[in-house]
Amino acid sequence: MTSTAPITGMTGPVLLPTDPGYDEARSMWNGLIDHRPGLIARCTGPHDVAAALAFARSAGLEVAVRGGGHGVWTARLEPGFLLLDLAALNTVEVDPVERTVRCGGGTLLADLDAATQAHGLAVPAGTVSNTGIGGLTLGGGWGWLSRLYGLTIDNLLSCEVVLPDGRVVRASDAENPELFWGLRGGGGNFGVVTEFEFRLHPVGPVIQFGMVFVEQARAAAALQAYDELMREWPASVSGGIACAAAPPAPFVPAQHHFAAGVALVLAGFGDPAEHAAAVKAAAERTAPLFAAEAPLPYVALQQMLDAAALHGTRDYTKGLYLDAITPDVAAVLAEWTGRRSPTAQLLAFRLDQAISAVPDAATAFGGPRTGLAVAIEGIDPDPAQDAAERDWARGTWAALRPYATNAGGYVNLVGDLENALVDDVYAGKLDRLRRVKAQYDPENLLHVNANIAPA
Ligand SMILES: Cc1cc2nc3c(=O)[nH]c(=O)nc-3n(C[C@H](O)[C@H](O)[C@H](O)COP(=O)(O)OP(=O)(O)OC[C@H]3O[C@@H](n4cnc5c(N)ncnc54)[C@H](O)[C@@H]3O)c2cc1C
Repeated sequence: MTSTAPITGMTGPVLLPTDPGYDEARSMWNGLIDHRPGLIARCTGPHDVAAALAFARSAGLEVAVRGGGHGVWTARLEPGFLLLDLAALNTVEVDPVERTVRCGGGTLLADLDAATQAHGLAVPAGTVSNTGIGGLTLGGGWGWLSRLYGLTIDNLLSCEVVLPDGRVVRASDAENPELFWGLRGGGGNFGVVTEFEFRLHPVGPVIQFGMVFVEQARAAAALQAYDELMREWPASVSGGIACAAAPPAPFVPAQHHFAAGVALVLAGFGDPAEHAAAVKAAAERTAPLFAAEAPLPYVALQQMLDAAALHGTRDYTKGLYLDAITPDVAAVLAEWTGRRSPTAQLLAFRLDQAISAVPDAATAFGGPRTGLAVAIEGIDPDPAQDAAERDWARGTWAALRPYATNAGGYVNLVGDLENALVDDVYAGKLDRLRRVKAQYDPENLLHVNANIAPA
């Protein structure tokens, strides 16, 4: 049962703190976020979003938007704000002939993948299936398919957007092109996207998976080798580096479960022989604890990391971009990943191939379309360890900062909104983004994000 809290014009339910289901509805993936909205507006379409935004403006309420709820941000909001919940906007419609898909602004990747893979198609998106397409796309969107087909935004054809003033508009290259430019990387700064339309590509249904794992004692040499190997891969082979415990997966020898070390993770979308050659080359070069490869359904690849990223994870993330893992960088990485807790991790993926083929100015994506994006994730289920995890993430970031090409990092992996280096993230694009913000959200109603101040 839900309350009948009066938001004029809303057809979806509105939850108050006293309503059943409130605690579940306010919870986010990141267990560090424990905020208490005064109202949760569960929107069923653009009309509901417009009504909720109008209500917030007239009542002077702060507004936060929840797409998939997977944001790593940990901003502290004063109790009583309005949470605009898009979870019900999750319809996915595939056009297999045109190879396009339209999905609601609150769709989870699992639902998008299931619908598109039914036709042997896919759009590049993230690597954990309960992530929302909303936040992921608006920040850029990197996934296993990105070396082949680009970032998620590089496959975005159009959006339906509710602007802060309540107007419902479309954004594409043809309609509101400046808004469309800003939405592709500028986060949720300009409006609430109620529908995304993407270009699709033939993928799978079976792809190749591989992992090479070197123990922590030899991390520095392995990390340097991994970075060199990734640059040699054909576009059909994709993947990244995970400085994390070896998973207790069937392909990992039991004696190495939870071993500390550094992994090179590979996904092959082309000729299986190309993928096998990449795994073999990495194993020969690094003499790993173990190396494994196997065919895998694409949908299983997309869900493989879900178990390591459960709802409620306490995660403090910082990020930056590096050009390469030089010997100096490798030494810093080895030292700091050697100090991580068993549950913390550092991830790095290369921005190259199809990602680099898109001109930097074509979208508002924050950061270079080259080099390595790094995410430093302090994670521990025990709240008593929150400070230690935060300090580790901050310490690792500070040690890497002298080598960074952009210290702000990939905007989707900026956890500390209070200290977000927005100017760094969007270096070179900030003036244009501020003008778009001034045009579409001059009052900065949508500010619970890596916030761009209106010009
Ligand atoms: C475990 C984990 C794995 C991840 N893996 C990847 C990965 O492989 N690749 C990658 O690129 N990123 C990855 N990310 C980062 C992820 O892209 C971001 O956390 C993203 O913001 C999540 O989107 P969401 O809609 O689920 O989050 P939310 O917390 O709901 O939203 C995040 C931000 O986006 C805004 N927003 C969301 N939806 C909309 C909308 N429809 N309209 C307007 N604004 C909206 C929100 O206001 C908020 O500011 C991962 C994050 C986690 C926690």
